[in-house]
Amino acid sequence: MSEWVIITNKGFSSDEWIGRSVIEPTNILSDNFGEEQLKKSHLKLGNDFQVETLKSFLPYLNAISIEFPSEKDGRGFSLARRLRQLGYLGVLRATGHVMVDQYRHATQSGFNQIAISSKLAKRMPEPYWQQQIDGFTPSYQEKLQSGSTNSYSSKKNILIKEAKNIQNLNLTNTGLVGAVVTKVIRWTDWSFSFRVARPKNFRFQSGEFVMIGLPGNNGKPLLRAYSITSPSWDDELEFYSIIIPNGPLTSQLQHISMGDTLILNPKATGTLLLDSLLPGKRLFMFASGTGIAPFISLIRDPEIYEKFEQIILSHTCREVKDLNYGKSIVETISKDPLIGEYADRVFYYPTVTRETFHTKGRITDLLKTGQIFQDLQLTPISRDTDRAMICGSIGLNKDIKAFLETSGLKEGARNHPAEFVQEKAFVASLNPIGLGRSF
Ligand SMILES: Cc1cc2nc3c(=O)[nH]c(=O)nc-3n(C[C@H](O)[C@H](O)[C@H](O)COP(=O)(O)OP(=O)(O)OC[C@H]3O[C@@H](n4cnc5c(N)ncnc54)[C@H](O)[C@@H]3O)c2cc1C
Repeated sequence: MSEWVIITNKGFSSDEWIGRSVIEPTNILSDNFGEEQLKKSHLKLGNDFQVETLKSFLPYLNAISIEFPSEKDGRGFSLARRLRQLGYLGVLRATGHVMVDQYRHATQSGFNQIAISSKLAKRMPEPYWQQQIDGFTPSYQEKLQSGSTNSYSSKKNILIKEAKNIQNLNLTNTGLVGAVVTKVIRWTDWSFSFRVARPKNFRFQSGEFVMIGLPGNNGKPLLRAYSITSPSWDDELEFYSIIIPNGPLTSQLQHISMGDTLILNPKATGTLLLDSLLPGKRLFMFASGTGIAPFISLIRDPEIYEKFEQIILSHTCREVKDLNYGKSIVETISKDPLIGEYADRVFYYPTVTRETFHTKGRITDLLKTGQIFQDLQLTPISRDTDRAMICGSIGLNKDIKAFLETSGLKEGARNHPAEFVQEKAFVASLNPIGLGRSF
């Protein structure tokens, strides 16, 4: 056994850094090293180093370790997070006194590897670590989600290679940054959610979207618009994604796993903003399919409860299991220390078009017949008290907009707030498996 035992998300592994020259920050800062040398080196950092001073060298480095001199000293975790926020995309190793119950925190901070002494490994053998690793993989999380169907095989993660390729993409001066995946949950055959570490200084308003993606085959970033489902105060960014068979991005993105790096354009925008609406008492949110994403962000933000007395979230899908992501988040509101007290002000109204369900049918029909108001024991929509947001297929947006206008509500925007807003470009056209169609 060598001096160090390396732990990755596959368990105990061999040390691939043997043979790399070990360098210290002072070597780099004194400018003694060229690009090629840096690529072949292993940079050793103490846990109190000002990593900002290394920013311009980070694109050339692909092996950095951070010392953990004692199990009670957690500064290495913050340092790792800062390195990732600065855009470091290579392998990051925590070396020293890292305990098995710190595995989750280490990976969430951006570490891909942990190196412990063989003496420590005797106290904490591989099965202990494997238990932590399994407990943090999507397949385990799936078991916790009732109704999840697919088993997720991290072994089939074809993206690891591509994520590593990101180092060859020069993101400097592109305005793009790397974002490390911290969690993935597969919800159905065609949908999954994932979380990434939030890039430093990245600001957004709940309800906005960003461009996010992977390196494309031609070496250029392949980016798509994604609504952020986490609220604006969260440390991480969460997304809910469709899987389009042969879709340029999602056919690849569906295979991501923890520790992979995505590319993100940190300029958020969008129309589904609370500021685009005039003050009101009730806020109706109409979503179909993955169009629920921006509303999941908004209902987790305390600001919505400061502005509205009641939130009515309607979500229309084809099948019952397609509701699972949204339903699970709505169910967590009552337990959330920040917004739990407002849980009884949220009226969740799921509807299903293709299966037997207690609320069956297109939301537009349920609005026209007044069924939704009867079911929720609410008065019909009125311009005096009500505001609305729409996000879904073209058909849904068009029909709801017509309904709201008939009720006297006018469309607003960031620069002229009014009574309703819609995300127009969310699903541009019919997709090959029909998921983008009107429900
Ligand atoms: C403002 C905005 C926000 C978006 N937010 C999200 C989001 O939060 N989650 C998400 O999964 N997608 C979202 N999208 C769609 C996303 O940008 C991509 O289109 C999607 O990830 C598929 O990428 P792709 O490269 O695999 O296929 P693409 O080539 O982009 O799409 C192929 C076809 O699939 C259909 N399609 C694409 N996305 C969807 C979808 N979400 N639902 C139904 N049909 C779809 C369209 O008909 C499209 O023509 C958003 C789009 C916009 C414009």
